[in-house]
Amino acid sequence: MTDQEEADQGGALLSQVEAELRRPWTRINFAPAVEGLYQGAIERARTRHYILCHLSGLMVFDLFVFINALVIPDVLVPTMIVDFVVLTPSLLVLVWLMHRRIVPATVASTAFLFPILLAMLGLMLASRAQNAVMVAFAIPMIMVYASIALPLPVLQAGIVSLGATLLTAFAVALHPGFDLGGGLFAVMLNASMAAYLIVAAFRNEINERRFYLLGLRDTLHSEGLRTWNRRLLSLSDTDGLTGVGNRRSFDARLEAAWQRNGLSEAPVALMMIDIDNFKRLNDTYGHLGGDECLREVAGIVGRTIRSPAATTFRYGGEEFAVILSGPEAERVGLIAERIRVAVEAARISLPSGPPGGLGVTVSIGCAAMVPDAGLPQQTLISIADAALYRAKQKGRNRVQVGPVDPGTALQVA
Ligand code: GH3
Ligand code: MG
Ligand code: MG
Repeated sequence: MTDQEEADQGGALLSQVEAELRRPWTRINFAPAVEGLYQGAIERARTRHYILCHLSGLMVFDLFVFINALVIPDVLVPTMIVDFVVLTPSLLVLVWLMHRRIVPATVASTAFLFPILLAMLGLMLASRAQNAVMVAFAIPMIMVYASIALPLPVLQAGIVSLGATLLTAFAVALHPGFDLGGGLFAVMLNASMAAYLIVAAFRNEINERRFYLLGLRDTLHSEGLRTWNRRLLSLSDTDGLTGVGNRRSFDARLEAAWQRNGLSEAPVALMMIDIDNFKRLNDTYGHLGGDECLREVAGIVGRTIRSPAATTFRYGGEEFAVILSGPEAERVGLIAERIRVAVEAARISLPSGPPGGLGVTVSIGCAAMVPDAGLPQQTLISIADAALYRAKQKGRNRVQVGPVDPGTALQVA
């Protein structure tokens, strides 16, 4: 993906996030695209947390069997069978299905709580013990578990709390030892707990979602800044007219290559490419024609070298520079000749020019050497420049390899 596409995509998502931050407080879910991101971001951690809650919750539930022995002792055997033989193993299977992502965590967790509710109330109904209705007072614990400990999304938390209240009301009313005071107390307790816990679950979910949006907005902002920084850096290194590296990046690249190759004792080579009689072309076809010609030459140079170890720059005016490093540097003369031939063969033309092309040619001065710690990189530029000057003197449209310093320079083709 290009920087531009990346920035556009990040910008589009950022405006969706901003819109979600302004959505009415009554709307819990986000629009589908952001909702998908949100669910994807929380899914793993939420499932892990639900599983840990269910495993510890099952242990607490099983411990209650011993208290049941005191509250509803007449149904102790069915209680043990329901708890240990039916509920615990099947709920463990449900946890496993959740762990394997076969059943979504929120669905499985809602389903997890109803068998427990039914078992508790069913055993209460079956018991003739005087204190059996006390079981109804333990039901809010399931609501707290659903709305706060897990917590389930508000919809599922609401289903559990309201379902638990209704089931409790039925069970209390149907219980043979129905007592108006105790029964109403239990139902009232369950109903008010359900109402408050739904409010708590709602606020919790709204806050959690808001927190997510703020984090996502921060991330998108800093990613946007990074993309812009990258684009600015690349723009500040590029020549606006021709698209090749500019003088600033030439200086930086040559210095870096000079230092790096000085350490590894590998050669660096430089080509100075100058368009022949460019002033005349400018005078004849105007600066716009000259600019077109500069773009064409830059393109031909770039396409001809095609090596990752070589980079093209606009040195200034109608002059280009190519830096070569390593084994390529030793072939600088050959590569320069390829460029010269390619420019000549391209027969660069302009709509207002002669049909056979403008006859654009280049002269190239080359220099190559292993950087010497005692010499600045300008040495290489001076040698290449002097070679270019000689190429011009000799009649233009030719390659000249610089005079070589016997100590450091390479034998170049
Ligand atoms: P030589 O063969 O000796 O190199 O001759 P030349 O005419 O190419 O060299 P000279 O230095 O006399 O002229 C270079 C011209 O390049 C002069 C200037 O107007 C033109 N030039 C420099 N920069 C630009 C540019 O960005 N666009 C255009 N169109 N012309 C430019
Ligand atoms: Mg020049
Ligand atoms: Mg010139």
